[in-house]
Amino acid sequence: MNHKGPTLPSRPASRARAAAPDGLISESLDSAPVGLIVLDRAHDVRLLTRRAADLLGLDTRAKRIGTKLLRLLPRCRGLGPDAMTSFATAVTEAGDEATQLLLTLQPGDGPRGTRPRSLSLDMRPAGALGWVLSLEDATQTRQAQDWLLEHVSTDPLTGLWNRQHFMLMLHDVLLSVRQADPAPFMVLIGLRSFKHLNTMMGAATGDHLLRLATDRIGTCLHEDDMLARFSGEEFAIAGTRPNERQCTEFCRSLIEALATPYLIDSHLVTLNPHIGLAQAPAEGCSAETLAANAAMALLEARSDTATNMCVFEPGLGERAQRRRAMEFDLRQALERGEFELFYQPQVDVHRGRVTGLEALIRWRSPARGMVPPVQFISLAEQMGLIGGIGEWVLREACREAMRWPADVTVAVNASPLQFESGDFAGAVADALASSLLPASRLEIEITENLLLRDTGTVMGTLAALHAQGVRLVLDDFGTGYASLSQLSRFRFDKIKIDRSFISPDDASSQNSAIVRSIAALGHSLGIPTTAEGVETTTQLEQIKADGCTLVQGYVFSRPVPANEVSMLIDRLRCPASQEAA
Ligand code: C2E
Ligand code: MG
Ligand code: MG
Repeated sequence: MNHKGPTLPSRPASRARAAAPDGLISESLDSAPVGLIVLDRAHDVRLLTRRAADLLGLDTRAKRIGTKLLRLLPRCRGLGPDAMTSFATAVTEAGDEATQLLLTLQPGDGPRGTRPRSLSLDMRPAGALGWVLSLEDATQTRQAQDWLLEHVSTDPLTGLWNRQHFMLMLHDVLLSVRQADPAPFMVLIGLRSFKHLNTMMGAATGDHLLRLATDRIGTCLHEDDMLARFSGEEFAIAGTRPNERQCTEFCRSLIEALATPYLIDSHLVTLNPHIGLAQAPAEGCSAETLAANAAMALLEARSDTATNMCVFEPGLGERAQRRRAMEFDLRQALERGEFELFYQPQVDVHRGRVTGLEALIRWRSPARGMVPPVQFISLAEQMGLIGGIGEWVLREACREAMRWPADVTVAVNASPLQFESGDFAGAVADALASSLLPASRLEIEITENLLLRDTGTVMGTLAALHAQGVRLVLDDFGTGYASLSQLSRFRFDKIKIDRSFISPDDASSQNSAIVRSIAALGHSLGIPTTAEGVETTTQLEQIKADGCTLVQGYVFSRPVPANEVSMLIDRLRCPASQEAA
């Protein structure tokens, strides 16, 4: 086989020959904007045009024709180690297929910061001749492509990847994962208070805050993690961690970093980050499924006020759906008149009479039947509905109490959120005014946790209620974090000992000792104590012996509808029926 090729001489034979048409051809080739190299089948250079030498930065003293191209490559100043390896591999592996390569060239002597140049190499087989390589400066095309890529794949505000590009990258990550590799995860971060802050502080400050948040997220990332801005206040991260524990620790570190207050224009601003985490299952899943799972977890994280995060698990979708359906129904329950108040008596065990009744809300849902408050009060709080519901309870309870004997009080439970938003003391005054119920007959029950909030608003509202003549009751005493120390901070009119301190009939006396000491403390402060959740006569005897004067529990009555209250009061006033209870 003729490795040298049939037509091209190794060098011009003479001056006369150089002026001949061959010389003309080589002059023309030298002036062409595309550089050309012809290799024979032994990879020896048979032609290398001036343009090709320029593009490669080939040493001008190097002998070219007849030299193996692999020997020439190290003398090309334009080729860095990576480009040279790629070029050499293409040459040694050249076969009957065309090969295209894009090489990044060494930066030249241009100004600092000049973008690296790019060289496109097209290598085609030329039959018995060998191969023809054409080289073209692709810097401008490459820069245009980079610019386009940057602008269609990144978020201009933060410089992070945008959602579309992130999803493409996630797709690639999921495709390349092998059985033994740790499962990829995706995290979605929502900054809950951002929209509100953005409106309050203006878009420019909002943008600044988002950039600060981006920096904070950056401090928690591992090198291979991918970070994107998904939408206004939503960020996404994908990566791998050896196990779920490390994934959740990562999420906690993100929450901690993002929740730390930001100092902006001498204001302390706090974002409220929530995180949904989803891990790709062992059998694999698509990028869309992983993102949908993370989104579902984020939705659930918004209702988990304790941790602000949620890890996706199968079944979460159904629960979230049930929850959304409940939210939908709850939103309409008030205007459809689906709430009812039941009343449970509080009995003075020494005098044998009902001193008051506690109003306990029920939701008579057409779809779900009678729903107890534990199943919807905290949801109503999260949905911002508790204010409206609470005002309805106040008005209804005061109106109903007007039908009872004048010495019987009504107790209404108040959520801490009612104290923090709106004018709770004003709502109480309105309910009293429209029902004509004397303020002294209304008790407001709050829990210890309200006092932990320790804001001026809470204390101010409590004082305003007292000033109206309303009585304040500390509910579920002993279950919160505050306990005894709170009794010195505010003067309550009554303490209700939580039912968890009422022992089962056959239990030890430890609870009894606690009840005794709370009753004694109340006695010394002049504050009556009510024992909640007393179910049996044995418990009733014990509670009496422990010093409690008031009792609320099934032993006297379960909560009853409004139309049964009068009968109930009568029955409990009669000593004979009380003994039977
Ligand atoms: P709470 O204020 O401590 O009310 C006492 C709860 O204990 C009531 O449950 C009552 O039915 C139950 N209970 C009373 N005696 C006994 C007993 O002998 N044994 C047992 N096992 N339980 C007894 P309910 O009605 O389910 O209310 C639960 C909680 O829901 C209330 O606890 C209160 O925190 C909240 N709640 C009820 N109504 C309202 C309301 O109108 N507004 C607000 N914000 N919360 C409410
Ligand atoms: Mg209560
Ligand atoms: Mg209670």
